[in-house]
This record gives sequence, structure tokens and C-alpha cells, in this order.
Amino acid sequence: MKKIIVIGSGFGGLSIAARLKSKGFDVKLLEKQADLGGRARTFIHNGYKYDAGPTVITAPYLIEELFAMNQEKLSDYVNLLPVKPWYRFLFDNGEYLDYGEKLGLTVKEIKSKYGYQNAVSYIKLLKHSKRIFNKAYTELSDQPFETIGSMLKHLPELIRIRFDRSVYQSVDKFIGNKNLNQALSMHPLLVGGNPYSTTSIYLLIQYLEWKWGVFYSEGGTGKIVDGLERILEKNSVDIKKNTEAKKIIYKKNRVVGVETDKEVLHCDGVVCNSDPTYTYEKLLGFKPKKVSNRFNLKHSMSLFVLYFSTKKIYKDVQHHTIIFSRRHHDLLNDIFNKKIFINDPSLYLHRPGATDPSMIQNNNDTFYVLAPVPNNLGNVNWSERAEEFSNIIIKTLQEKIMPELSENIVDSFYITPDYFEHELNTYAGSGFGIQPVFTQSAYFRYGNKSLETGGLYFVGASTHPGAGIPGVLSTSKVTEKLILRDYGNN
Ligand SMILES: Cc1cc2nc3c(=O)[nH]c(=O)nc-3n(C[C@H](O)[C@H](O)[C@H](O)COP(=O)(O)OP(=O)(O)OC[C@H]3O[C@@H](n4cnc5c(N)ncnc54)[C@H](O)[C@@H]3O)c2cc1C
Repeated sequence: MKKIIVIGSGFGGLSIAARLKSKGFDVKLLEKQADLGGRARTFIHNGYKYDAGPTVITAPYLIEELFAMNQEKLSDYVNLLPVKPWYRFLFDNGEYLDYGEKLGLTVKEIKSKYGYQNAVSYIKLLKHSKRIFNKAYTELSDQPFETIGSMLKHLPELIRIRFDRSVYQSVDKFIGNKNLNQALSMHPLLVGGNPYSTTSIYLLIQYLEWKWGVFYSEGGTGKIVDGLERILEKNSVDIKKNTEAKKIIYKKNRVVGVETDKEVLHCDGVVCNSDPTYTYEKLLGFKPKKVSNRFNLKHSMSLFVLYFSTKKIYKDVQHHTIIFSRRHHDLLNDIFNKKIFINDPSLYLHRPGATDPSMIQNNNDTFYVLAPVPNNLGNVNWSERAEEFSNIIIKTLQEKIMPELSENIVDSFYITPDYFEHELNTYAGSGFGIQPVFTQSAYFRYGNKSLETGGLYFVGASTHPGAGIPGVLSTSKVTEKLILRDYGNN
């Protein structure tokens, strides 16, 4: 039986462990933290439970597959609740738009707020998104790209769907209203991209949401992580928490083991769910062979996330509210390019109690609010500025959507880009790995298999196809294919 070590227990690590175990491999899972899930872990603070990261669950079939291949049913572990509406978009002029759940209602909402022509254009945009989805998701998201040649045959369709345009530019071709355009081109931000520079291929997310819906995992995203942990344990995956890989050991150009902070472990192959830029630099000690992975890599923005509970129940606040800053375009430029401290953030507010009454805890409402901020390649000193930024966020929420917020907070804490960099070992504290621009997609993204040494594979947000739970779960489908090709079924 071949021994595989998986480094990291984000959705990438958990899913590749579940896949390989179901194929008979002897799997060990190493996690630096005391709990599993990576970005998707659960924080407990003063008795309150908070989702640390992902809460928008899309393409649930990808999670169901992991349970089914281990002779289990997702529904025995997790109850997925439909979110209604998926998002409320709140604009600087006080206007808002409720989006998602029922297509008819969304079109009606667009028509009533932005007129008949924009409603018709939205349907056309969705058809365009479906065409992109059919190519880029259905055909390509679970296929390896090991050579540039493997991309070339898809080029004619990619040219037809205008991959050279940004998401924002593509939406702008259809939609004739600035606020609506901002809302409909926000999806790249969910996977670490700037809508003004992310290739329009990522418009596929819009159709993906309509195809399978948007859900919340009852009791928190941690329930999915716990479910996966339980099936891995049942199937005798050796899970080692509080264990940090320090070095990947290779001999004669082949991986033979991993040195952790406690011991040396031998194996026949390693799958890294740790961030690849960090992994090459710190665990491997050499540079990637692929040119697109060596120079000028663009890492995603980072996030400042404030977790809080309030004694007041904000029943008029929807589950997911996206609050746009007045200067959306310039703000994103400050975050992604200039990498400077910002004081007028756009915000995403998560109120799980709107969908799941069990998340109203101790009769208090629980929330998180996240703000995209520059990654640590800028020079913001978060240990000095975090408190100031937290106050800016509270003031913004209070003015725009949550009256008397500051006097109602009963619990709060935050994470800054330093958390992503130092706790999760992510290069420069980026929130989503490398950005989803065309020059970092498919073959140009970090490969699922190392070109430098045998027995070394990658999963997770910076690998093909990319970030977000569906993307990350697809990375492990690609990597599983490569491992089965190299080792055969065990
Ligand atoms: C705040 C936030 C909100 C988000 N919201 C959504 C959402 O609503 N929907 C959605 O689909 N996506 C969302 N995302 C994106 C999604 O969460 C991520 O793309 C995905 O969870 C990343 O998974 P991963 O497997 O790539 O890596 P990670 O979750 O980063 O896991 C990597 C793991 O490796 C461990 N590790 C690193 N180095 C070592 C080492 N040397 N030894 C041992 N362990 C190591 C880390 O501790 C970590 O646990 C969100 C992300 C964030 C940050």
C-alpha cells in the first residue's frame, strides 16, 4: 500500500485525503493548527462559535462526492439550508438590490430598480456566463494542464468568449448601470481577484450559483469540516494535528519523506495543501521550474475580518450583505496595486442567524464582517493599525445598516493579514493564494504535480483550477487523477 502524506487540512487537504483513502492509499494528514479546516475552520471565542472563513456553499455535489466515495452520505452529517436571497447589494447612494434564490424574482428586482432593458440584458449576461461555464467549468475544471499545448486546443472558444476582457468589462458590455455592474461583477472578489483585471472566464461563477444554488451549512461551515474529519478517522486516515511540516525530503529526484517539528515521516508521495509559494521557498528550498510560477506572481489581496456578537437581534439584516464603498474602482486599485492602508472599505457582512436560527447564540446575533485589504507586500503595520481599522468598520456598519451597533456588541475579535501569513503560512498573507488572472490560470497556474521532483503534488487555492470551495475541491479531483495515473489504484 503506497504511503501518501498530505500537508495541510484546508478543503484541499481534506478532500484529497478522502479521495486517496477511498482508493486504498495509506494516508497521513498533517496540520499545523490544533484543528482542521484551514480558512474554513471554526473559531470559538467567549463561548460564541464563528465561521472563520467560507460561508457561501455552492456546487454541493462536490462535497457529496467525497462522502459517497467513502460509502457515506453528506446528509447524515450536514444539513444544507438554502439562502434567501443569496446577497443583498447595498450601494453608496442608499440603493439596494436583493439577488438570487429565484431567477424570476431577481429579474423582477432588476427590472423594478434598473428598468426593463437592464433586466433583459441580465438574462443575456447569464446566457454568456453559461457558455463560459460549459467550457471552463464543465470541460476544464477537473482536467490537468501539464503542458502549454494542453491549453491551445481550447483557445478558439476562449477567444470567442473574450477571455482577454476583465469580468467588469464583460459585464459592462451588457449592463447599462454603474451600481448594477459593480454588483454583477463582484464574483472575482470571492476568489481573490480584482473584477477590473480578472479574466472574464471567472464570470462562470455567476452561472454556477444558479445551476446548483447557494447554501449555508446548518450550524456553520465547520459542520462540513467535522463531517470530513469523522469519515477520515473512520477510514483510518492518520490525522496529526499541531504538527507542522518543516521540510520535504527528496532523494535522487524523488520525494521520500517529510520532516515535521516532531519527527521524520517516510512516504512514497506528498501532496501539499500548504500555499505553493511558501512551500517552494520554505519546505523545498528550490524555485519552481515553470516560468509563470517564478517571476512576477500576483498574489491576491488579503482580508481583515471582524467577528462579533450583538445583544440586539438585527432581524432586517440579510444573511450576506455586500456594502460597496463610494470609490469602488479606485479602492480596489489601492488594495491590489498600490497596497496602501484604506479607510473607506467595501464590506461583506455575514449574518448566519438569518438562515439558521441555531446561529443566534445565547440570545445574541452573531456576525462576521470582512474587508478586502492589501496583502503584506504593502507596508501596512497591522499591529499598529488594526484597532483603528476595526473602528472604521464598526462606524461604517453603524451608519449604513446596523444602528447603535457599538453599544450592542457583547463579543468581538479580529484577524488581519498577519493571521494568514503567520498562522496559515500563506505567502504575504494573501487571502486566496495567487490571483485569478489569465497569466496565472490553467497551465500558467501552479501545477497539480511538481515538474521538479517525482512524488510531489499540490492541491488548494493557488493550484489549477483555483480558489473558493468548488475550485479547491476540483483541485483535488485533478490531483487524484494524476496520482492514480502515476501509482495506479492501491
Ligand atoms: C474570510 C474568507 C471567506 C471566504 N468565503 C468563501 C465563501 O463564502 N465561499 C467559498 O467558496 N470560498 C470562500 N473563501 C475561499 C475559501 O475559503 C478558500 O479558497 C479555501 O477554503 C482554501 O482552501 P485550501 O485548501 O486551499 O487552503 P487552506 O484553507 O488555507 O488550508 C491550508 C492548510 O495548510 C496548513 N498548513 C500550512 N503550512 C503547513 C505546514 N508546513 N505543515 C502543516 N500544515 C500546514 C494551514 O494551517 C491550513 O490549515 C473564503 C476565504 C476567506 C479567507
